[in-house]
Amino acid sequence: MGRFDRHALIAGWDQRRLAGSTVVLCGSGALGSQCAQALALAGVGRLVLCDPDTVSESNLSRAPLFRAADIGAPKAAVAARRLAELSPVTRVDARTAPLVSGVGLAELRDASLVVSCLDSLAARLQLAGRCQQMGAALLDGGTSAWGGEIRLYEADGPCFGCGLTARDRAAQDDPWSCTDAVVPEAGASAPVSALIGSWLAVTAVRLLCGAGPAPGVVRVDAAGGTATPVTARRDPGCPLHSRIPADLVSAVPYTAQSTAADLTGRLAPEETVMTWAPLPGTAPTRESTRLADAPPRARLADLGVAPREILPVVTAGRTRGIRYLELSGAGGKGTPR
Ligand SMILES: [Zn+2]
Repeated sequence: MGRFDRHALIAGWDQRRLAGSTVVLCGSGALGSQCAQALALAGVGRLVLCDPDTVSESNLSRAPLFRAADIGAPKAAVAARRLAELSPVTRVDARTAPLVSGVGLAELRDASLVVSCLDSLAARLQLAGRCQQMGAALLDGGTSAWGGEIRLYEADGPCFGCGLTARDRAAQDDPWSCTDAVVPEAGASAPVSALIGSWLAVTAVRLLCGAGPAPGVVRVDAAGGTATPVTARRDPGCPLHSRIPADLVSAVPYTAQSTAADLTGRLAPEETVMTWAPLPGTAPTRESTRLADAPPRARLADLGVAPREILPVVTAGRTRGIRYLELSGAGGKGTPR
C-alpha cells in the first residue's frame, strides 16, 4: 500500500487539498510539536513554525520531536528537522522569532489555517488581534491538568480576547518565553498535550479538507470522560476586531531583507511608516515604532519586521490618514537567507 492509501478510505479526506495547504503554527512546545507532527504525517504541504524559544530539559517529557542533545537549540528549527524526516512531502519553514517578527500579516492572511499553540496570554492575544486584522480564522489550543480546550475563531465571530475580562486582556505577561510567564506554571504532561494537540490536528485536517463545519469551542475533560461544546460570544467591548481594509494595502517590491531607508525613501514627506513591535533598544512607546528613527541601513528583519509584513503608513497634517505597505517574499529574522 502507498503512504496515504489508508487516508483515501476516510470519507471527507482530501489528500490533494492537504498537499496544497499552508498551516502557520505558532508555538513549537509540547502542544505545537504534537499538532505539527500529526499534520506533517497527514501530508500537509507546508508548515510555518514560529517560536522564539530554545529546547529545555522540561520539554523532553512532553514534546516528541526533541531529544536531550537538542537542549539549547531553537525549538522551531529542531522541530522542522524532525518533521522533514517524518514527512518528506511537507516543507517546513522554521522561524526562531517572536510571532510579530516571525510571521507577517500577509502570511497570516494567505495561510490555509493559522494554529495557536502558545502558552502565554499576551502572545495569544497578539496573534488573535493580528488574525482579526487580516480576517484570518484562528484555531487555538490550550491544555489544563487533565484536558483542555480547542477553539476555532472565525474571522467575523468571537475571538480569543472576547472570552477574557478587560483586565485579562490588558495582561502583559512576557510573551516571548514560556519559562518567565507571570501566570503560575500549570501542570502539563505528554498524554494531555498529545490529546489536545491531536484534537487540534483533526480539526485542522477537517477544515483544510473542507470536510464540514467545525465546532467553535470544545472543552475536553479526560478525568470526567467528556467533551463539551462551549458557547463563545463576541464581546462588543473587545478591542481586537479592527480589520485592515484590503483596498488600503499596496504591495512594495521590498522584502524583510531590504533596509529601513528603502521603505522610508519612497514615502511623501508628511508620511511616516511604522512597525508593529518597538525597534530594538527602545522603550515600548508609540514613538519607538517609527521606522524613520531606525538606522537607515538597518535591514528590516534585524529591526524585528517579519517576512511579508504589512506596515502602517500614517500621514500627518491636514490630510491625516493611514495606508499600508505589504512586503514581498521571504527573509525575516530567523529564516534562512
Ligand atoms: Zn474579540
